[in-house]
Amino acid sequence: MSVAAEAAKPAPARRFPGPLAGALAYMAAAALAMLAAVFLPFDDYILHILVETATYAIAVFGLTVVLGLCGQINLAQAAFFGLGAYAVGLGTADLHLSFWLALAGGAGIALVMGACLGMSTLRLGGHYLAMVTISFQQILTLVMINWIAVTHGPDGVGNIARPAWFSSGHGYLGLCIAALALVGYLVWRLPETKLGRSMRAVRDNELAASVSGIDVYRIKVAAFALCALLGGIGGGLFAGGFSYVSPDQFSFAESIVFLTMALLGGVASPIGALIGTALLIVLPETLRFLKSVPGLYLAIYGLAVILIIRFMPDGIWGFVQVYLRRFMKPAAFARSAPELVLVPAKLEAESALEVEGLSKHFGGLKAVDSVSFSVRRGSVHALIGPNGSGKTTTLNVLSGLYTPTAGKIALDGHDVTALPPHARTAVGLGRTFQNIRLFRSMSALDNVVIGAERPGHDLGRIHAALVDQARAALAFVGLEGRARDPITSFSYGHQRLIEIARALAGNPTLLLLDEPAAGLNSTEKVELRGLLKRIAGEGLTILIIDHDMALVSDVAEHITVLNFGRRIADGVAGEVLRNPDVIAAYLGAEPDVAHRA
Ligand code: ADP
Ligand code: MG
Repeated sequence: MSVAAEAAKPAPARRFPGPLAGALAYMAAAALAMLAAVFLPFDDYILHILVETATYAIAVFGLTVVLGLCGQINLAQAAFFGLGAYAVGLGTADLHLSFWLALAGGAGIALVMGACLGMSTLRLGGHYLAMVTISFQQILTLVMINWIAVTHGPDGVGNIARPAWFSSGHGYLGLCIAALALVGYLVWRLPETKLGRSMRAVRDNELAASVSGIDVYRIKVAAFALCALLGGIGGGLFAGGFSYVSPDQFSFAESIVFLTMALLGGVASPIGALIGTALLIVLPETLRFLKSVPGLYLAIYGLAVILIIRFMPDGIWGFVQVYLRRFMKPAAFARSAPELVLVPAKLEAESALEVEGLSKHFGGLKAVDSVSFSVRRGSVHALIGPNGSGKTTTLNVLSGLYTPTAGKIALDGHDVTALPPHARTAVGLGRTFQNIRLFRSMSALDNVVIGAERPGHDLGRIHAALVDQARAALAFVGLEGRARDPITSFSYGHQRLIEIARALAGNPTLLLLDEPAAGLNSTEKVELRGLLKRIAGEGLTILIIDHDMALVSDVAEHITVLNFGRRIADGVAGEVLRNPDVIAAYLGAEPDVAHRA
């Protein structure tokens, strides 16, 4: 019934501007800005401010990627900016390299250092990244100041050259704006690419990203390295603009300025980055007249920043976007959704899943204790047991979120015990979570597209196939009519269905469902039961955890029962549910005591 209502919803209007019109408008605006840079009669002071804004903004774009898209902090962007600036400074002034070579060298060094820093810390997560980036920033500042033989120490580097074609102030500004426009365009389009979508998924929910097939660590390192690269490019261009650089321009305080620029303008978009950068460069300049009163200038500047961030938590651009969105309608789909094909192409083993002697101990607690069971291909298998009996932990070990203390797991005949979560997804595992884990900043469709994505290239045609697959999965659970709606607009029950669609879109061999009926009302439970039967009807293997015995006995052919982490029963559904040990475990009493009572 509700499925029909979804389908009857009118198709949304076409998006304006479309992608091509948007790109053309962007190019026109960039060309106009470059012409203005070259031909408008700016004096040196204005030229300096504009070059500073353009080059800083390129570095702030880096924070848009790492913090805005991927949710990782970088408190050393000024250090990467400094690496680029010193490479151009020392390269052109001391080594007499060409500007371009020095710029490329600086960008390369920043990229490699960023990648190394990311690789050494991003596995740790939490506050480590903040601490390590601060340390890196301080070390680099110390090197700039104290390695006098190379860096000229506190005196800084002078006589920095510009490329011959762009030696005038106007010409150089034109170059900086061209670089800004190019980098800005790439950062603007990044969220729509596979890499960008993976970054957003990691930011929204790392666990869900990993079981959707994303190598979380690799994506974080890529984001961090990209951020460092943009810092290096921005810094290299900055050095050419000012012909002199010194260590104090690249201190920790500047890293905080970069971060403030990103947060102030809006960290989620390069437009926000540009607004924030321009504001934080122009604001101090316009407040210059206050400098006669010591402290007043800083107080007003600080107050302005605090007020903006307090009242516009998503930055200035985030604030404006809320109003702009009213005029932007999502594009309609040209075709209707294709059918979802669920049966995996070729299966090798008779058992979809073989679990042997699986244990997971948390210190002294044996959450899962030497559990073995086997899930027959094409069957629905239930894993039941009282609260705290180790069901979710078993699923977490199966999907690779926990390393088992002991035991072996074979998926469709492949030993996956040592594989990380994303690799198990690639082998054919799909799962949902007891506490719904969706990518909350995205549409239903984008959530499911991430589930459909597999290792490979992000070409347009392949992307269209992914969208088709995602729409087919959404149609399968009855939500295709609302594909472009944000996750937050869906009811709890529908969010569970989207999570199932995300897992189905990956074309799994085995689907793990952790309490899919929990929190659903009785109508939703009936719908869920129908959905599970349709999935099973397509021949997909399901391992389901649930407390709803009516549901379990209706859909499952085979049941494994856990109690205190141990397997207490395993067999055909009807027999297991009559097993006195199982009844006792659920009643919380010894079988004979239960009889006497
Ligand atoms: P179920 O899903 O069957 O209700 P769980 O697998 O969530 O049970 O939990 C089994 C036991 O393991 C519980 O006692 C729980 O407190 C414990 N446990 C689960 N996860 C962790 C963890 N990450 N650290 C420590 N103990 C845990
Ligand atoms: Mg659980």
